[in-house]
Amino acid sequence: MTTFVYSHPVCLEHVNMPGHPERPDRLRAVEKVLQANIFDALERKEAPQADPAVFELAHPSNYLERIRSLIPETGLAQIDADTSASPKSWEAVLRAVGGALAGVDDVFEERADNVFCAVRPPGHHAEKTTAMGFCLVNTVAVAARYAQEKHGAERVAIVDFDVHHGNGTQDIFYEDGSVLFASTHQMPLYPGTGALNETGAGNIFNAPLRDGDGSEAFKAAFRERVLPAIDGFRPDFVLISAGFDAHYRDPLAGLELTADDFDWATGKLMDLAQKHAQNRLVSLLEGGYDLQGLAESAGAHVNRLMRG
Ligand code: ZN
Repeated sequence: MTTFVYSHPVCLEHVNMPGHPERPDRLRAVEKVLQANIFDALERKEAPQADPAVFELAHPSNYLERIRSLIPETGLAQIDADTSASPKSWEAVLRAVGGALAGVDDVFEERADNVFCAVRPPGHHAEKTTAMGFCLVNTVAVAARYAQEKHGAERVAIVDFDVHHGNGTQDIFYEDGSVLFASTHQMPLYPGTGALNETGAGNIFNAPLRDGDGSEAFKAAFRERVLPAIDGFRPDFVLISAGFDAHYRDPLAGLELTADDFDWATGKLMDLAQKHAQNRLVSLLEGGYDLQGLAESAGAHVNRLMRG
């Protein structure tokens, strides 16, 4: 497999309030683990700046203007109880989305089989008109619509294994049968959505897990719900909202996954990408707040992307 990794130094300059779990050290931990010899074959790329006009694929322009106007010249602007913006946040968002879109181009133009974007801020909680959960712009949603607009993708599958439900992604595609959204997450937990009966236009597949669930329950949710849904949908492109906060060390949640589980899930999604989508798969970093758990898990995920 040819695997590209996108990142950009400005993604370290989006900062939250002191003590906030979504911190620049997360990205440093991921970058450090990817320095190991087993990752020598990775092609590392600098994420380009997205044209902010593409954000309108997922958000109305007045929402985007409001978010942009909230970016402070100094200090922090509080957007909700746990979401804030710093002077470099907009530029970090432009690079995060830019990396994702470059990755979409790479897999559709056959430069890479798959791509991992080591970027922040995360995006999957950002709804059409609401920034929340550390997220300002929904990167994975913009990437899905971009694949459809630019590359003619007809059926895009988004799989979200972050421990929190990807309410923003679900909100954006709730009535859109051309995008399948499948999510494993702990429930009840922030943000409160993600029940089995939230099915949208028949394109939403939630697989809630309970506090304390580990590998077996996670794999069962994949085997029984997530993987058959994707297989039946026959996507021509697969996106992953890759949050690693379901790791047992994570301080924000209570699932008990290990790095091996992320390796396993990645392999299963690659099998479906090979079967239906000529391997085309782009994965975006979402959550993961224990630095060791995050590094081990992201390392296992990227290593699997490379190995096939
Ligand atoms: Zn999360």
